[in-house]
Amino acid sequence: MEEIDIAVIGGGPAGLTAALYAARARAKTVVFESAMPGGQIVTTDWVENYPGFPEGISGAEIGDLMLRQAERFGAEFRTFAEVESIEPEGLDFVVTADGRPHLAKVVILATGAVPKKLGVPGEAEYTGRGVSWCATCDGALFRDKVVAVIGGGDAAVEEAMFLTKFARRVHLIHRRDELRATKCIQEQCFANEKIEIHWSRVVTAVRGEEGRVVGIDLAATNDEPDEHLPLDGIFEFVGVDAKSSLVAELCDLDDAGFVKADVNGLTSYPGIYAAGDVTSGDLKQVVTAAAQGASAAFEALRYLDQRLCSI
Ligand code: NAP
Repeated sequence: MEEIDIAVIGGGPAGLTAALYAARARAKTVVFESAMPGGQIVTTDWVENYPGFPEGISGAEIGDLMLRQAERFGAEFRTFAEVESIEPEGLDFVVTADGRPHLAKVVILATGAVPKKLGVPGEAEYTGRGVSWCATCDGALFRDKVVAVIGGGDAAVEEAMFLTKFARRVHLIHRRDELRATKCIQEQCFANEKIEIHWSRVVTAVRGEEGRVVGIDLAATNDEPDEHLPLDGIFEFVGVDAKSSLVAELCDLDDAGFVKADVNGLTSYPGIYAAGDVTSGDLKQVVTAAAQGASAAFEALRYLDQRLCSI
């Protein structure tokens, strides 16, 4: 069985920063990533609030730069390697990926989060046929078409603006009469003439014909009448669910399923650290994910030193 000092599960900004810090400290560090490294940020068109890039930077480029930096210091990558289980073995952990076990002294969980679904009729049937969770991936398919973006947070508002590069009209559907998104993002959205905001509306059904989306049904959350909106595509940004199932039996989770970790990334299970979007906490940004990855690696390295000293 391959022996590892620090197994990092997940290759987004949190995992890549943890790997950078761990590998740079000469710990044998392996990053397991079920897809390509980069995480959710690679599906973000433009990042304006990561320090050091005054003009902004594409999400894909941040992911690539972080990957190259971690590799430069010796972090190893197992890409397209799905971790199936993490099982304690004495003080160590058996991390099984694609059926192959690896023995790790420490685990840093940086598995991130996945977009939530609305769960309305028609959503599953028209997934990939007009229903999407990724504007960067699918936006170009809607050139000169009409789309809706669902949600009122940073993701929904940013992606609505991104979609105006392609679509001739973007309907932003929000269930309240006030957006949750950061004020500066809201201002840009209000100034965008291609975006029409539908306040106090929830989607009740996705309608389709001949295998493609043709519209959505909207119910008012105030006393206005319900309506049907004809359109070609719908992009859902209604928040995220933590990818915490690997440690659900080992670590304490909050009520929403996010991993509880202290300020240094330590979970309730000794030797398991967590960082980034998989953890509890309101601020889910590239900069916080990177900071949490660094803290988790720093604490993990200290824990490894303590283990060595106590032998
Ligand atoms: P979020 O901040 O949790 O916002 C989710 C939005 O979806 C809210 O407006 C919410 O409405 C709405 N919503 C939730 N469930 C719904 C439902 N069933 N039907 C209709 N609407 C529903 O999620 P997010 O925008 O994906 O962002 C996740 C995290 O990433 C946040 O911490 C965010 O700040 C961060 N992020 C940051 C940036 C950036 O800094 N540039 C970009 C993207 C994401 P209510 O407002 O009524 O609750």
